[in-house]
Amino acid sequence: MDHSGRLLGIRKTLAAHKLDVLLVTHLPNIRYLCGFSGSSGVLLVSEKGSVFFTDGRYTTQARAEVQGARLAVTRKPGLSAAAEWLKSRGQGLRRIGVEGEHMTVGARCRLTAVLPTRTRLREAPALVEQMRMVKDEEEISRLRAAVRLGAGLFDAALKTIRPGVKEADVAAEMEYAARRAGAEQMSFETIIASGERSALPHGRASQAVIPAHGFVVCDFGVILAGYCSDMTRTVHVGDPTHQARQTYETVREAQQAAVDAVGSGTSVGEVDRAARKLLHKRHLAKFFTHSTGHGVGLEIHESPRIAAAQTEILRPGMVITIEPGVYVPGKWGVRIEDMVVVRERGYEMLTPTSKELVVI
Ligand code: ZN
Ligand code: ZN
Repeated sequence: MDHSGRLLGIRKTLAAHKLDVLLVTHLPNIRYLCGFSGSSGVLLVSEKGSVFFTDGRYTTQARAEVQGARLAVTRKPGLSAAAEWLKSRGQGLRRIGVEGEHMTVGARCRLTAVLPTRTRLREAPALVEQMRMVKDEEEISRLRAAVRLGAGLFDAALKTIRPGVKEADVAAEMEYAARRAGAEQMSFETIIASGERSALPHGRASQAVIPAHGFVVCDFGVILAGYCSDMTRTVHVGDPTHQARQTYETVREAQQAAVDAVGSGTSVGEVDRAARKLLHKRHLAKFFTHSTGHGVGLEIHESPRIAAAQTEILRPGMVITIEPGVYVPGKWGVRIEDMVVVRERGYEMLTPTSKELVVI
């Protein structure tokens, strides 16, 4: 779908939500709806049409990128310009929806100070996020390309991971390789967690030195053409003990069970349960302390969340991660993460990398 189609989709839902206007301030939502990839602006969507407000720093970029919305370049910050515009329009645009998760209290105050008292400002439902959950084929091909580039960084990790090397140095090699391969940036802070630190689900690459024996969790991703990749592989330095190998194989089976559960019509809770059920059988469920996965797209963490309490039903075109893990505090941790596309029947695996345990 092109940008006009997306904007039209939002415009059509406004009345149902009793809104005359939606003020889009979350940059990924702005990019999704009208193409603008800069770092400042506000998109006003009304039933009659859309206007994108930005300031003079972005004139050239906005002209080149914005589609489906009128462009208003002003001297004021986008939000103030949008407020003035609404004020000048007077009647008819009273019910104004804002993105509550993405608006500061200060911005809200500035907005209400300009708007006429008869206007009603309220938090809109996450209309754009809902729409973004299901990707079109162009988005999926961008995600596929990002995943492919991201997966290539694992080679840089394998070349660098050795006992005595700092975790931060492994991350640095991967991030250098990412830049060289054309990535815009990393999609989140690279996680390299070795030895006991592998039991920290979010162990960012630190100054710690990789020990002679133990797991190393590598969780990393890139942004390419605006879209994020996300994958995790866990390797073992030195010969793994029988128990270490068993733990790894159990996580791998749990991850595969969750991947195999993915398909159109399945609830996200069922996918989460598939991973947990397998870990439960091997008495490892209590060490799996986070949700099974999340949506990925223009942002690294998007809807839907793949978690027990969630009720979302998977639909074709959703792109999600499947990333169960086992974390035994003070001992070790293992996580394996892939990205998949939900298809009419089953799924399409995006991550190309083998899940055999790599021993270094
Ligand atoms: Zn990850
Ligand atoms: Zn993830």
